[in-house]
Amino acid sequence: MIEEKIALFTIFGGTGDLARRKLYPSLYRLYKKGFLNKKFAVIGTARREWSDEYYREIVLDTIAEITESKEDAIEFASHFYYQAHNVTDTEHYASLKTLSQKLNEKYKLEENHIYYLAMSPQFFGTITEHLKDQGLINDTGFNRLIIEKPFGHDYESASILNNQIRSSFKEEQIYRIDHYLGKEMIQNISAVRFANAIFESMWNNRYIDNIQITLSESLGVEERGGYYDTSGALRDMVQNHILQVVSLLAMEPPTELKDEAIRDEKIKALRSLRIFSPEEVRNYFVRGQYGPSTVNGENSLGYREEENVADDSTTETFVAGKVLIDNFRWAGVPFYIRTGKKLREKGTQINIQFKNMPLNLFNDDHSVPLEPNVLTIYIQPTEGFSLQLNSKKIGQGLETELLNLKHKNSAETSANSPEAYEKLILDCLNGDATNFTHWDEVASSWRFVDVIREAWDQETPEFPNYPSGSMGPVCSDQLLASDGFKWFWNPQK
Ligand code: NAD
Repeated sequence: MIEEKIALFTIFGGTGDLARRKLYPSLYRLYKKGFLNKKFAVIGTARREWSDEYYREIVLDTIAEITESKEDAIEFASHFYYQAHNVTDTEHYASLKTLSQKLNEKYKLEENHIYYLAMSPQFFGTITEHLKDQGLINDTGFNRLIIEKPFGHDYESASILNNQIRSSFKEEQIYRIDHYLGKEMIQNISAVRFANAIFESMWNNRYIDNIQITLSESLGVEERGGYYDTSGALRDMVQNHILQVVSLLAMEPPTELKDEAIRDEKIKALRSLRIFSPEEVRNYFVRGQYGPSTVNGENSLGYREEENVADDSTTETFVAGKVLIDNFRWAGVPFYIRTGKKLREKGTQINIQFKNMPLNLFNDDHSVPLEPNVLTIYIQPTEGFSLQLNSKKIGQGLETELLNLKHKNSAETSANSPEAYEKLILDCLNGDATNFTHWDEVASSWRFVDVIREAWDQETPEFPNYPSGSMGPVCSDQLLASDGFKWFWNPQK
């Protein structure tokens, strides 16, 4: 049963890239499915002077590829209003309030507000403060705030930002986006674990040898060089997406699959992360930066040659590390994580490697290990699972061979499954914060990442240290080799 949702969206940064590429198409899909119908309106704000008509043209443009009926699209776009607005200008909030009230009456929106901050985090504090001081947050309907990453650049800045926001919005009104949490297969981690006794009964240090998480990108920094050079892979990917995935894999079963119960368990898992000493950082975390190379016959730029990147930049475009979780379930099980740009293949996957048989009965030398059982969860671009098993080779003798049980969602299923932003916006409309990050999660993640950053900042790395189109620097392979493991996913040229 599809139930119509009622809300006024105010999108700060309404002319920006995120709004155009993700938010408007997602809102349109929700409209097509009937979640948004008559009782919704959108105010787009940004500094430029645009008319409503011009704004609606832009919105129509952003949904052109997914538009099924022109009339529908025009009716959808008619709910969009534009308000030129400089977020630092107090008077502009008065105009915003007048427009909000007008639309609230016109569309019978029951004073339900979603404020979406699709702009630079430097403005988050100013906007939320003004929203409160200028009376845009009231008690009649709901007031929800969606904010984009990055949430600070270390624990201290995140904490300052959080205090600013929390002086206007309560924690339960804040929806911190981590779009990874909107992905189908990330949400499926809970189903794999808590709907399958064979896995949950083995989901611990007695049966699991190690867990590997790879978020691999084949592109470089493209036009984001300016931002990326101040951030790097550790802050851009590890603090949020990767540690979120770690927490979902590591958490204890929640009492129910509801936001508070899941968050409680994720927070506990994140609090159990071992905070490393500088010495441990040196042993457990490695970094890299891509250099120039030839990929598929074409010259590929090194990071330092990219636009808006300093030619002696020491920013890492690759991180690999060993995350340790000090609790009863996971003591002694390394979670290896890896992310980087300009790697050989784009893809996100999780490999859960189970412990090996105590001895190999299928070899005269019983100490030659069998291949391990590995459960792989494919997150993107392919969605699905595979399970690596040993089986007997057909024929005489008892030689074994590897068998891969695979399920991949069909291209059609994947194409029809809602996009991450669409799911997350609908969650927010439903008041369901399961797939958003709570402040306590953000805080624990920064505490973990900060010590790595600090240790790294004491030394100048020898960059570049991996060619574009490889799977990262040699030290990443050595990290696992020193524990007797190797990266399970190793795409070949
Ligand atoms: P963008 O630069 O394309 O858009 C920024 C918007 O803010 C524009 O509409 C601009 O007019 C507006 N703006 C800037 N200064 C303003 C001011 N003083 N007053 C009013 N409006 C002002 O940025 P983006 O790529 O859309 O990213 C927005 C946020 O989303 C950032 O926090 C970014 O990190 C995050 N994000 C973006 C993406 C993406 O795919 N673009 C993905 C993940 C997260």
